[in-house]
Amino acid sequence: MSPFSSTGLVAQDHNTRKPVLLAVDDDAGTLLLTREFFGAEGYEVLTAADGNLALNLLRQNTPDVILLDVLMPGPDGYEVCRRIRQTPHLRGVPVIILTSLDDPASEEEAYRIGAWDFVSKPVHWPGLMHRVQYAMRAARALHAERAANRFARVINQSPNEVLIFDAQSLRLLDANVSAVLNLGYSRSELLEREFSSLLFNGSAANLSRNLALVKGAKQDHFHLQMLRSDGSSYPTEGTLLYADDDEPSVFIAILQDATEKRRIENELHRLSFYDDLTGLPNRRHLHEQASRLLSLAERKGSRCAICLLDIDDISQINNSLGPAAGDRILQEMSQRLADVVRGFDIVARDESLTVQNSGLQLARFAGDEFILVLGDLTDPVDPARAAERALQAISQPCDSVPGSPRVTASIGISLYPDDGDNLELLVQHAHTALHSAKAAGKNRYSFFTDSLNQRILGRLQLERELHEAIDTHGFELHYQPIVDDDLQRVVGAECLIRWPRPEGMRFPDQFIPLAEQTGLILPIGAWVMREALAHLQAWQDRVPEDFYLAINISGLQARQPNFVDSVRTLLQEFPVRPEQLCFEITESLLIDDLDAAATWLRDIEAMGIRIALDDFGTGYSALAYLVRLPVNCIKIDRGFTSQLDTDREQAAVAAAIFQMAQALGLGVVAEGVETREQLSALRAMGRCEIQGWMIGKAMPEADFERFLGCYPEAVAEA
Ligand code: C2E
Ligand code: MG
Ligand code: MG
Repeated sequence: MSPFSSTGLVAQDHNTRKPVLLAVDDDAGTLLLTREFFGAEGYEVLTAADGNLALNLLRQNTPDVILLDVLMPGPDGYEVCRRIRQTPHLRGVPVIILTSLDDPASEEEAYRIGAWDFVSKPVHWPGLMHRVQYAMRAARALHAERAANRFARVINQSPNEVLIFDAQSLRLLDANVSAVLNLGYSRSELLEREFSSLLFNGSAANLSRNLALVKGAKQDHFHLQMLRSDGSSYPTEGTLLYADDDEPSVFIAILQDATEKRRIENELHRLSFYDDLTGLPNRRHLHEQASRLLSLAERKGSRCAICLLDIDDISQINNSLGPAAGDRILQEMSQRLADVVRGFDIVARDESLTVQNSGLQLARFAGDEFILVLGDLTDPVDPARAAERALQAISQPCDSVPGSPRVTASIGISLYPDDGDNLELLVQHAHTALHSAKAAGKNRYSFFTDSLNQRILGRLQLERELHEAIDTHGFELHYQPIVDDDLQRVVGAECLIRWPRPEGMRFPDQFIPLAEQTGLILPIGAWVMREALAHLQAWQDRVPEDFYLAINISGLQARQPNFVDSVRTLLQEFPVRPEQLCFEITESLLIDDLDAAATWLRDIEAMGIRIALDDFGTGYSALAYLVRLPVNCIKIDRGFTSQLDTDREQAAVAAAIFQMAQALGLGVVAEGVETREQLSALRAMGRCEIQGWMIGKAMPEADFERFLGCYPEAVAEA
C-alpha cells in the first residue's frame, strides 16, 4: 500500500476507466513519486522527461489531467502549455503547473497561457491530489455544460416547436425560437402564459383529458390546433411528454406545424372530389354524399329528391361563341346554383337540420349536367321550389360572356323511395323526367311521376294565388246564421271564409289546409278577425244584445305568442262586447300541447270571449278537456247530424254527447241541420242551437243583413 494512500481520496472516475494523468518533469525523482502516489490512488500515470517527449505523447493520448514542470530541457513548461491549448483535443484538459519558481509573475504567466492551477515545489502530495481531483471535476462539469449548451442550441434552432410548461399551473417555462415565431408572442410574453391559452377551441377543451392520458403514459401523440397571438390558428401534430424527475414536474410539447401537410391533404381531396372547372363536388363526391342522404332517409322513413339540371342548348353556345365561352357560362351557372343551394340550406337549417346533416348536395354530374340532392324531405313540394329557384337563377342575364344569349335550363326530378331505391335508378328516372321537361318546351322542371307532377304544379299554383289573394284582399267573409232551439231568434252566426275566383267560388276545404301548412293562415286569420269585428260593430243596433259571431281559429294562429294581445288590441279598435265573440277551436289544438292550450284558453276566457269546441264527435272527444278547460259549448259535427234520422248508432252517440254536455253545463250547437227530421231527432235529445242549410247557408254580409231583418217570417214561409 502506498504511504500516500492515507489521504483516502480515491480518484476513480464514475465509469470504470481509470483516470489518466500525465506528469512532465526532468526530475526523475518527481516522476517516480508521481507514479507511486497517483498509481496507488487508481490513476494510470504517463510520464515524460522533457517537453518534446510530452508533446509526442500528447499526439496519441488525451489525459484527464497534466502536471507540468516549468524548467526543462527543450521547450519549457510554459511553451508546452501554450501548445496544448492550441491543440483541439487537448483544449479542455486541465493543466497544473508544478514549479520551484515561486514568484507572482511566473504564476501570472502560467494562468495567462491557460494553466488551471499553479503548485509550488516541493510538492505536498495530498494537497496536490485534492487539486488534481478538483481540476478533473471542474473539467467534467465544464464538458457537461458545453454539451448541454450544444444540445439546447440544437433544440432552440429546431424547426419543431418545443414548449415546456409546468405540470401543475400549465405556465410556460421555456419555448424555443420556432414556437416564439409561430405563436407570434415575444419570448417574455410567452413565458407569462398558460399552455391552454395557446390552444384553439376544441384543443383547449380536450387539454386536461389529453394531459391525463400523457401522465398515465397512455398516449403521447396528438393533433393540436394552436392559437396565435393575433387570433388565427394553425394545426400541429406532435408529442407531449411528462417529466416528473425534476422539480417542478413539467410537460414538454414537441410540435410540428401541419399547415402545409393539411394543405396538401386538402388539395388531394379537392382534386379527387371536386370538379376542376366549376369547383363543385364531382360525381364521385356526389355518389358518397347522396348515398349518405339516401340511407339517412331510409332510416328516418323520409324522402329524398334527385334534381337533374341540364343547361338548354349549351352546344349552340359552344358552336357560336366557342368552347371557352361555354366553359365560362358553366362556371357562372354553377356559381348561381351554389347560391341557390346556400339560400335553401339556410331555410333547411331553420328547420333544425345541422349543417353537416343538412340534406343538400349540389354537384357537377357531367358536361352541362348538375345534380341537386335534397335529403330528408317532409314535403315533395320542396324540390319543386328548389327547381323553380334554380331555373330563375339560371335565366338571369349572363355577365361573364358579353353578347351571350339568355341561358335556360331544364330539370328532371325523381323521388326516393317513390321512383327508386338506389342512386342509379333515381338518376336514370330523373333523366327520363328531364327529357319530358325538354320535350315540353325547356326552361321548366318535371317530376318523374306524372300524378305527382300534376299535384305539385297545382299546389304551387294555388300557393301563388293565395299569396296574391292575401295581398289584394281577395277573400270574402260569409255568415251562416245560428238560431235558437225554437227557431224563433237568430242568436248568432258563424263566420266562414270564401274565395271568389273567375272560375267560381272557392271553399275553405280547398285552401285552408294549404294555408295552414304554409303559415299563410296567419295573415288570413288576422284578416278574418278584423273583418268579423268590423261587421259585428256595424251590426250592433240590428242584432239582439246576446247575438254572437263565431270565428274559426286555426291551431297555428292560436299558438302565436302574440295572439291574445292582438285580440285585445282589436277589441280596442272595434269596441264590441267580448261576449259577442265565440272562438271555435278543434280538439287537435288541445291535443298538441294541453298545458299551453289551457293557458291560452284561460286568457281568452278572462277576456270574456266564449269558446266552442268545433267538429265535436269526430276526433278523440276526450271528456278530460271538457272538464279541465274553460269551454262554453260544443258543436256537434255535421257528420252526426246528417245521420241522426238514419243511423241508430250515430244517434246514440249524439244522445250521449247531449247528456254529457248537459251534465257539464255546456251549450250545444248542432251543425249541418238540413231537414225537419234531423231537427226533430235533435229536439228529442235535448236543447241546442241550430245551424244548417235548413235555416240558411253561409251568405255575404248584405244577404245576412237582409236575413236578420226578416227572420223568422221569411224563412218560415220558405
Ligand atoms: P266548420 O267550422 O265546421 O264549418 C262548418 C262547415 O259546414 C262550413 O263549411 C259550412 O258551410 C258547412 N255547413 C253548414 N251547414 C251545413 C249544412 O246544412 N249542410 C252542409 N252540407 N254543410 C253545411 P265551409 O264554409 O266550407 O267551411 C269548412 C271548414 O273550413 C270549416 O268547418 C272551418 O273548419 C274551416 N273554415 C272556414 N272558414 C274559416 C276561417 O275563417 N278560418 C279558419 N281557420 N277556418 C275556417
Ligand atoms: Mg266552425
Ligand atoms: Mg264544424
